[in-house]
Amino acid sequence: MEGLSISSEPPSSNLADKRKSELAELIEDPASRPDYWHDWKWQLKNRITSLEQIRELIPLTRREEEGIKRAKGRLAMAITPYFFSLIDKTDPKCPIRKQAIPRLDEFGVASCEMVDPCGEDNHSPVPGLVHRYPDRALLIVTDSCAMYCRYCTRRRMVGEELPPMSIERFEDAYKYIKSKKAIRDVLISGGDPLMMKTEVLENYIKRLRSIPHIEIIRIGTRVPVTLPMRVNSELVEMLKQYHPVYMSIHFSHPREITPDVARACGMLADAGIPLGSQTVLLKGINDRPAVMKKLMQDLLKTRVRPYYIYQCDMVVGTNHFRTPVAVGINIMEELRGHTTGYAVPTFVVDAPGGGGKIPVAPTYLLSQAKGKVTLRNYENKIFNYIEPVTLPESK
Ligand SMILES: *Cc1c(COP(=O)(O)O)cnc(C)c1O
Ligand code: SF4
Repeated sequence: MEGLSISSEPPSSNLADKRKSELAELIEDPASRPDYWHDWKWQLKNRITSLEQIRELIPLTRREEEGIKRAKGRLAMAITPYFFSLIDKTDPKCPIRKQAIPRLDEFGVASCEMVDPCGEDNHSPVPGLVHRYPDRALLIVTDSCAMYCRYCTRRRMVGEELPPMSIERFEDAYKYIKSKKAIRDVLISGGDPLMMKTEVLENYIKRLRSIPHIEIIRIGTRVPVTLPMRVNSELVEMLKQYHPVYMSIHFSHPREITPDVARACGMLADAGIPLGSQTVLLKGINDRPAVMKKLMQDLLKTRVRPYYIYQCDMVVGTNHFRTPVAVGINIMEELRGHTTGYAVPTFVVDAPGGGGKIPVAPTYLLSQAKGKVTLRNYENKIFNYIEPVTLPESK
């Protein structure tokens, strides 16, 4: 598949500063969009980052105004014009809006909430590497994302937009991975690895590929959703030289699956990259079973296999996004059996303090007696399964 036509000379200055009404027009009217709308660098340069800009684009609630004012010192606001264009201006409860625009609620902190809820910093043998499971490691290469999700679990380290991991730091991580023969799988994450230039990303991937015991390389990203124009032929041509490369893409809501996103996922899939999804369960965004089911089914149509639904971590400032765990269990109940197993991911709680992902599911095994188990199906019908017995020797 061909990449998009990208204007070779996007406007070099920050459009949002000079001609605000033009940005508003581009966001509102798809017909007004010139080629540079499809240039990922233009999209990044023109991200919506200030209260003044956002006021021009959307009527804000008082809680949002206050949230935006205070966000700078915590997790900065940055929204690509593309992702912003998915917001329903008339709906303060819009699921795209709630993910992207800070609200005052972020600054109410529950006593259980932590800065590093998954204990990643304690499982970091060298800077930028988290090694918590026996055969795989997580490499954090950048702190930048195209859009900052208000519920981000790595908000402690995300959003300053520092340069990507230096050669020296990567060298330490590389040496560690090389010395640990048990590591079969490196997950490149951040921030968002697809925020980096293709050559920079390739440098890490190429080095990792040179380690014989690294069987698969994975990339964790939200860019195909918040900046789908980043997925171009240059990127996929690079990635497909290093197979097997897998990608986990972070999706939150069926409204995120636009034609642009479908095109991006299609290109990645055509390049032979198996795509999985990761979704954080979020109150008021995707906590209704019908919404989650539609997301899972639409992902399959987009050639993305649902992989994980995460219980929202106990991270500082997310109390308003968190749901009871039972909400997630109920969603799993409404998926399994009601739709194809391909649309059923694993619901996990990432254990506070660094215990890792723990799967949580409805109980289908009602009792387990000697030689017999009692089960229920998705319709709540009860069945017995009789385990093998020792038969008298047949003649
Ligand atoms: C989620 C995660 C992984 C990958 O887990 P999988 O179940 O293999 O997808 C690896 N390392 C860390 C620290 C993680 O949080
Ligand atoms: S894309 Fe991931 S790392 Fe970036 S802000 Fe969202 S949740 Fe955090």
